[in-house]
Amino acid sequence: MIGIRGAICAEDNSRGAIYRATQRLLGEIVSRNDLTPGEICAAMFTMTPDLNADFPAYAARDMGWTTVPMLGAQETLVPGSPERAIRVLVLADVEPPAHHVYLGRAAAMRPDLVEPGDAEGWNGSSEERVADESKGRSLGRLLVIGLGLIGGSTAAASRKSTLFTEVVGYDRDPASAQLALRRGLVDSLGNELGDEVRRADMVVLAVPVIEIVDLLPSLGEWAREGVVITDVGSTKRRITEAMAALPERVRAIGGHPMAGSSASGPAAAHAELFRGARWALVATARSDDVALARVERLVRALGAEPVNMSAELHDQVVAVTSHLPAAMSVALVNVASGLLKLVADEEILTGPGFRGASRLAAGDPTMTAQMLSDNSDNLASAINAGIQALEEMRKAIRADEGALRERLARARE
Ligand code: NAD
Repeated sequence: MIGIRGAICAEDNSRGAIYRATQRLLGEIVSRNDLTPGEICAAMFTMTPDLNADFPAYAARDMGWTTVPMLGAQETLVPGSPERAIRVLVLADVEPPAHHVYLGRAAAMRPDLVEPGDAEGWNGSSEERVADESKGRSLGRLLVIGLGLIGGSTAAASRKSTLFTEVVGYDRDPASAQLALRRGLVDSLGNELGDEVRRADMVVLAVPVIEIVDLLPSLGEWAREGVVITDVGSTKRRITEAMAALPERVRAIGGHPMAGSSASGPAAAHAELFRGARWALVATARSDDVALARVERLVRALGAEPVNMSAELHDQVVAVTSHLPAAMSVALVNVASGLLKLVADEEILTGPGFRGASRLAAGDPTMTAQMLSDNSDNLASAINAGIQALEEMRKAIRADEGALRERLARARE
């Protein structure tokens, strides 16, 4: 049995800073002493009185130290000694020698034990935090609100990725929630939304656009320090404005997966839905490097590719690539419905072209209405442009075949 000492200083008195510093310190202790979790017998932490936002043992448990007995206590802050210090004594069932670890400002505590580079090896800065993010540690507890097509698929793919220690789902419709659980899309279901948000490390909002905007202020009240909130809504300006108004302790980034279908609900959800898709990310006044790094990790773990853009550009482009097609699909179905009633069997005169073009009209009316009206200014411009293009087509069809052929050829390029 050996005793391994270590110390590190947290960047500030926040849950995230204590978590990161503790994981960095324990990570170095494990790697320098070549420890496996089964060899760690016990760990004792102390923190100076200027740190009280969280227990360091929480970060240790997230590293897999779930069966290690751990204890925390307060250390005296002796004048002149490093502030915001986390100290640890790890007892391990291995042969000596013990390799002690003192990182960053904590290196001043035991210059005799410090290895070259250790004093500079940790400053808790933003770059360091981002570098830490890419080391593949767990992102903790994920809460997915809304377990339909997109939320259920996000939960299922997150479970498969093992990026989180637990994937918890919440849906206001008990039948959808139960189906999501039965289908194994989530590890467990939350009962009281406020309690679940308080316990989450990341929250994905996968409910209709207006519900996202309405839910955000409550999330801001409930969420703990450092939590990352993101969403999957099909429009971005109003949602990211609501995110920017969240309290400063909360991190938030807007998101929109460019994948889906007209099917809805947890029955249609599956873990492969996002594979190969683009996923738009929109930074807000509540976004920082850590939030971006974590949401990008989530998106990649789901098999998608993150693309950063502004909310304005996003809404302008999806008005043409997503909302105009939905509006045109509904218009096409309206034009065709009277005529199709004249044929005994609709299938006789509807081929794959019509079925493809009318598919978007089969989407959930509430969801589609919310999406279209939330982007009404951009969509109105897109519809005007569409009407003008159809007018030009009508003129070309009436004029001569050459002009029409030229127009059609241009569209193929
Ligand atoms: P869906 O109807 O399949 O699922 C929505 C779920 O949210 C339902 O189970 C519903 O009960 C639940 N819900 C609604 N309001 C709630 C609330 N206040 N609290 C808790 N649960 C609530 O819808 P979906 O297709 O998964 O769409 C979800 C979001 O994803 C929308 O914002 C939509 O714009 C966006 N989106 C959809 C697609 C698509 O192709 N369907 C693609 C990209 C983005």
